[in-house]
Formats: sequence, C-alpha cells, structure tokens
Amino acid sequence: MSHKTRLLILGAGPTGLGAAMRAEALGLDWLILEAAPGPGGLAASFVDEQGFTWDLGGHVQFSHYPEFDRVMDAALGSRGWLTHERESWVRFRDRWVPYPFQSNLHRLSAEDCGRCLAGLRAAPGGTPRSFGDWMDRAFGEGISELFMRPYNFKVWGFPPEAMDCGWVGDRVAAPEMDTVLRAIETGEDNRSWGPNATFRFPKRGGTGAVWRAVAGGLPPERFRYSEGAVAVDPAGRAVRTRRGKDIQYDALISTVPLDSLARMCPCVPTAGAADRLRYTSTHVVGLGLNGQPPDALRGKCWMYFPGANSPYYRVTVFSHYSPHNVPKPGEQWSLMAEISETVHKPVDADTLLRETVRGLREDGLLPEETEILSTAHRFLPRGYPVPFLGRDQVVDPLLRAFETSGIYSRGRFGAWKYEVSNQDHSFMQGRECVDRIHTGGGPECEPTLHNPLSVNRR
Ligand SMILES: Cc1cc2nc3c(=O)[nH]c(=O)nc-3n(C[C@H](O)[C@H](O)[C@H](O)COP(=O)(O)OP(=O)(O)OC[C@H]3O[C@@H](n4cnc5c(N)ncnc54)[C@H](O)[C@@H]3O)c2cc1C
Repeated sequence: MSHKTRLLILGAGPTGLGAAMRAEALGLDWLILEAAPGPGGLAASFVDEQGFTWDLGGHVQFSHYPEFDRVMDAALGSRGWLTHERESWVRFRDRWVPYPFQSNLHRLSAEDCGRCLAGLRAAPGGTPRSFGDWMDRAFGEGISELFMRPYNFKVWGFPPEAMDCGWVGDRVAAPEMDTVLRAIETGEDNRSWGPNATFRFPKRGGTGAVWRAVAGGLPPERFRYSEGAVAVDPAGRAVRTRRGKDIQYDALISTVPLDSLARMCPCVPTAGAADRLRYTSTHVVGLGLNGQPPDALRGKCWMYFPGANSPYYRVTVFSHYSPHNVPKPGEQWSLMAEISETVHKPVDADTLLRETVRGLREDGLLPEETEILSTAHRFLPRGYPVPFLGRDQVVDPLLRAFETSGIYSRGRFGAWKYEVSNQDHSFMQGRECVDRIHTGGGPECEPTLHNPLSVNRR
C-alpha cells in the first residue's frame, strides 16, 4: 500500500512534535511515523508496577525561547506546573558542596581548598585544544583533578582529550576569582548560576505529560505509532515502514539517530561517515522508597557525584519535583540515578542495581533502614551525543548530503549537537526546520542548529 504526504516526520519526540505543530499551524499536509507506542521519545515518562512515576533521566524544563514557553504553558495550563528553585549539589568526599563546585571551594577541607585555589591562580587560560585542555586551562590543576576530570569521565565516558570544548558555552560556569575568594572569606555559598536556576516540572505524569499533551492537541489521524521506518529511498522520496508500507513524501524530517538514518539510506554520499559518531548510553535506576527522605536531602533537587565509590554521575530526588511522582504523596519518596556507558566505560547491568544501592547508602542518600518499595531500571541505547573532536567535520557534511536529497535530520541525535539538544532546542529545531522547508529558505531559517551560541546566550 502506498500513501503520499507532503511532509513526513520520523519520530514523535520533542523535535518531531515541534515540526508537527508548526506544520499544522501552516496548514501543511503532514504525517508522523513513530516506532514507539506513544509520543515523547527520551522525554517520555512511565509509571512502574508499584505506581511510581519516572522520567528517562532527570528532566527539568527551562528554555531559551518565549515560543517554547508559550507551548509549555498551553500544554498543561498554568495549574499543571510546579516551579522549583534549583538546589543542586556535589558530593565530594564526605561533604556537600553547592553547585557549581568551582565557586564554592570554601566548602572543601583546608587542604583541598588550598590545592584548588593554587591551581586556579596558576591556571594559564588561553585557547584550549580539547575539553581536557580547557579544564586545565580554565580551572587549574586542583579543580581539574579533584572534580572536573573524574566527574566528566563519569558523565561522558570518553577521554576528555578526545572531546571538543566548543559546546561548554553556558553549560559550565567559569569561576571568577573575586567570587571564589569572597566565598572563602565570608563562608557564604554561591548557588545561583546558569540558565536553570529556577525550573518547572509537571504536577502529574512526569515530563512525558507535556509531550502527551502536545501530541494530544494535534489531529490523531496524523500519527502512526508503533510504525517505525526501516528504509528510506531518497531517489524515490519514499519511506518503508516496519509493517511493509511505503509512504511517499516531498520533504522528510528525520529525528531518528543520524547513524541509524545513514544505515536506512546508505546510498546518500558520506553516509558511511556516520560510523564515526560517538555517543553515551544511559542507565536510569529508580528507587521508590517508604517514609521520608533523610534530613541531608531536604530541599535538594539533584546531585553530582565525581567519586569512584559509586556508579552514578547524577542522582535526582525525583519526589521533590512533584509529590505526585509517588503513589502515596507525603508517605513515600523516590531517588533516580543516572549511569553512563560507553566503549571506554563498560557497565555490568547485572550488578548495577546492587552497586547503585550500595553507593547511595555510602553517600548518605539512602539510610540503611529505608524500605525499598520499588526498583525500576531502563537502558537508553542513546543518552548523550558526545561532542567529540572533529564532530562537525563528520556531522555537517552528512546533514548537507541528506538535505540535498530532501531529508532534514534534526534533533538530539538527528543533528548530534549536544549544545542544542535539550527539549527546548529540539522542539525549536523541528519548528525552524518546517519554516525553512515551507519558505524555501536556507540555513539562516534555523538559528538553533546553525547558530547555537547566539541561541544559548539568550
Ligand atoms: C538522561 C537524560 C537527561 C536529560 N535531561 C534533560 C533536561 O533536564 N532538560 C531537557 O530539556 N532535556 C533533557 N534531556 C534531553 C531530552 O530528552 C531531549 O532534548 C529530547 O528528548 C530530544 O528530542 P528528539 O525528538 O530530538 O529525540 P528523541 O526524544 O530521542 O525522539 C526521537 C523519536 O524517534 C523515534 N524513532 C527512533 N527510530 C525511529 C524509526 N526508525 N522510525 C520512527 N521513529 C523512530 C523514537 O522512538 C523517539 O520517540 C535529557 C536526556 C537524557 C537522555
């Protein structure tokens, strides 16, 4: 059976839904094929058998775009959101250090503080060659060795010398000596930094509720769930689905991972280069717990863990995001840990839950006596698109080659640009791409993809 549509979208995650909303507003003929049974992609949520709600990793909503904010407001209504002040912390040795670590050295032991300060004073600055070089140049030996390098290896699972640093922009706070010294003098914490000093979260249903609502506001007949694409024929402008249907299109927006897309249409020039793309996989481990969190966790949203004693790099007190993330609000609470896996950093999935619980006990997050009511483990084959050295030399020609064939690969793994891969960026990539296709314009129509720094400075 064959079907002809003007704009075909692969994937109903934030990027695909951003594209769909725009296409609908412009009155275009569009259709989404989604491999999963529902919308949301990596920003979906699920409820486990015991009734605990989980995201696929700790998702918080913040935005660089008024347009995205309006869509979020409309999706859940003003009463559908809870707003939080970010309380993020670093667990360092046996101490809690407010995030960002580099601005709160007064929380360290005198010896560690002295080492970090001496390194910071001697930090050479200058133009870095890699992410690793950037850490050393910007922060100096102490902060780099004690926190930056161990923490970032836990997140990325890649040698920092093999990673680029063009993406750090607004994501990693550069320390200002005055601020650091003032904190040491006064003992006052520096807590507020960056684009997500406050954030909001859906009252019910986890982050996935947003994307279910966005999809629910669009005509249902334009969605085909559980119908993934398996092959793309750029010459014939047709996609074959898992059920063996062929769907023709004038333009195709793909949000599937770029290397998967390349495998689906290997005839596109340079498609073989997609094998050089690097990514992390992510394990998400959720623990549904009885009683109340320990005092040490009061008010904390999420915490970073550079230590080698635990498998996770980040833990979220997920019940703090919304009381409805647990089945009995006020009587239960929940923790969610994220663990990365790469070729350089293998993970034993069989022992991961045990190791996570052990680490949480050792780090003081999970008292011995706390009853574990529920455990949830999800493996995300693609978690983070790694900004490896030479990434743009691989990605940009690939994207251009696909565009020449009428295929626009966009989104977190569609465009593989970590610096513009959050929900707001992804949604806007989809939206801007439809505007480009509709107007017949060029890259200037897509500032998120082509001018990430200016977008992130907003
Ligand atoms: C651990 C973690 C933490 C995160 N934290 C945050 C956060 O705090 N804040 C934030 O804003 N963002 C966060 N993100 C990022 C957020 O999840 C992404 O921005 C967003 O999901 C990307 O949307 P997308 O549509 O580009 O890709 P995806 O969400 O990956 O959607 C792609 C869709 O394509 C579908 N698909 C795949 N193959 C096919 C096929 N062959 N045919 C049809 N469909 C297919 C998939 O099923 C999926 O639904 C986080 C991500 C992770 C992994």
